[in-house]
Amino acid sequence: MSPGRRCQPKWERESKMDISLERDEQHEHFMEIALREARGAAASGEVPVGAVLVLDDRILACGHNRSIRSMDPTAHAEMEALRQGAQVLGNYRMEGCRLYVTKEPCLMCCGAMIHARIRELIVGARDEKSGAVWSRAQLLDLPWLNHRIISRFGILEESCRSVLQDFFQQRRETRKKEKSSADPLPSLENEPQVW
Ligand SMILES: [Zn+2]
Repeated sequence: MSPGRRCQPKWERESKMDISLERDEQHEHFMEIALREARGAAASGEVPVGAVLVLDDRILACGHNRSIRSMDPTAHAEMEALRQGAQVLGNYRMEGCRLYVTKEPCLMCCGAMIHARIRELIVGARDEKSGAVWSRAQLLDLPWLNHRIISRFGILEESCRSVLQDFFQQRRETRKKEKSSADPLPSLENEPQVW
């Protein structure tokens, strides 16, 4: 899969897996695909986060951050996967779906997941700076919500964290080198210091 390329139907071939695999192995399988998406984002200069939407162990959609290229603040990996998944299902409700994300979702994506009624959220690494599921807020646990999402983190955690750390490390080095010239990179003001 070339970096930055959107999810194609051929992904479905990869989603057909031995049903005898244990649950954690299933999670790792799909998280690995989310990681590929994240690496594709990095290759395009986007913050490397990837997401995969799954229904009955089949991949419906996948996505990665494309906010910079799309000039769209809502183009997070989760939103991309949810948008594409809704088109595949022909329904904005995605009951029964699992969403795999390499990094803990933000405020916006938590809201979208609740609107979409996904059943389960599987996360790689927590985001201590802006994660809204466990780290900075616990939006999925708000008492007045009429939909509950099962959530867990720690699947391929080290790899999911590394892809972010490597990206920001490299960007900081590039930034240092280009400090005196016109800066073509996005502002680092809000860059998570945790990576
Ligand atoms: Zn988000």
